[in-house]
Amino acid sequence: MTLILDGKATAKALRQEIAGRVAIFRQKSGIQPCLAAVLVGDDPASQVYVRNKERACHEVGMVSRLIRMPVTTTQDELLQQITGLNQDAAVSGILVQLPLPAGLDSQRILDSILPLKDVDAFHPENVGLLVQDRPRFLPCTPHGVLQILKAYDISTQGKHVVVIGRSEIVGKPMAMLLVQKNGPLGAKYANATVTIGHSRSQELAQHIRQADIVVAAVGQPKMITGDMIKPGAVVIDVGINRIQTGLVGDVDYESAFPIASAITPVPGGIGPLTVAMLLENTLKAAILQSNTTPVVD
Ligand code: NAD
Repeated sequence: MTLILDGKATAKALRQEIAGRVAIFRQKSGIQPCLAAVLVGDDPASQVYVRNKERACHEVGMVSRLIRMPVTTTQDELLQQITGLNQDAAVSGILVQLPLPAGLDSQRILDSILPLKDVDAFHPENVGLLVQDRPRFLPCTPHGVLQILKAYDISTQGKHVVVIGRSEIVGKPMAMLLVQKNGPLGAKYANATVTIGHSRSQELAQHIRQADIVVAAVGQPKMITGDMIKPGAVVIDVGINRIQTGLVGDVDYESAFPIASAITPVPGGIGPLTVAMLLENTLKAAILQSNTTPVVD
C-alpha cells in the first residue's frame, strides 16, 4: 500500500507550532516578526506565491509587508529598496520573489540582502554556513523535504538518495543537507549517500533506479516515470509545472504511485512546506536580531 505524504497537513501542523512560538516571542520581546516581500513586475505565478506567503504570515501572527514594484524597475531602484529594508528595524526578513524581470541581475540583488534578514537563505554567507553544517537559515524547500520525511519517520541515514536538479534554490542545498553528518533535524535525517542528477547526466534513469529515495526538482512535467523507480522507493516530487490540465510535478504520479512505497502529491506536497519553512526563518531572523533568548522548539 503506497503512502501518500500529505504536505498540506504536515505544513498545517508546523504552522500551528510556529504560531505558538511566535506568540511566546512576542510576549517576551514585544516584537512582532515581519516578513517583507518584494515583488517586481506582474508574473501571475509570482503573484499567487506572494499572496500565499502573506496569508501564511498572518495566520501565525506575523506582519507581512508587500512591496510591489513595476516591471520597469531599474537595478539601482531595486537595490535602494533593499537597502531601505535592510536598515528598517521593523523588518525581520526580506524576500525578493523570483524570477525577476529580464535586465535585473538577480545574483547582485540577492547578495545585497543583509545575511541576518536573508530568510530564503540564498546569501553566500548563509550558503557557506549551511555547507559547513552550522546553518543560520535553512533553505525553505529543502528544509520542507526534510520536515516531511521526519513527519513520516522516513530516515535518510545510510540510504541512497538521488536528487535530480542542481539549482541553487533546491537541488544543490538539498543534496548538501542530506549528506551532512549531524544535519539540522538530526543524524536520522542526514547521512545519506547522495547522487545529484542534472541536465547533462548520462543514463539518468539507471541512477534513479538505484535510489532508496528520489527527490525530483527538475521543472519538467512528469519526466520521472514509474519504470525508472526502484520498487518500494520513496518519491519526493518538488516540481511544480503548469500544463493545460493544471499543476503537475516532475514525477508521473500515476505510473510512480503503484511502484513507490511513499510519494508526495502535486499540488499538496512540498509547496505548502516551503511556505511554512519561510515562516520558521522569519521567526528565527526576528529572534537573532532581538537578542532575546531563543524560543525553544
Ligand atoms: P531550475 O530550472 O533552476 O533547475 C532545474 C534543474 O533541473 C537544473 O539544475 C537542471 O540541470 C535540471 N534539469 C533540467 N532538465 C533536466 C533533464 N531533462 N534531466 C535532468 N535534469 C534536468 O529549477 P528549480 O528552481 O530548482 O525548480 C525545480 C522545480 O521545482 C520547478 O518545477 C519549480 O517550479 C519547482 N519548485 C517547487 C518549489 C516548491 O515549493 N514545491 C520550490 C522551488 C521550486
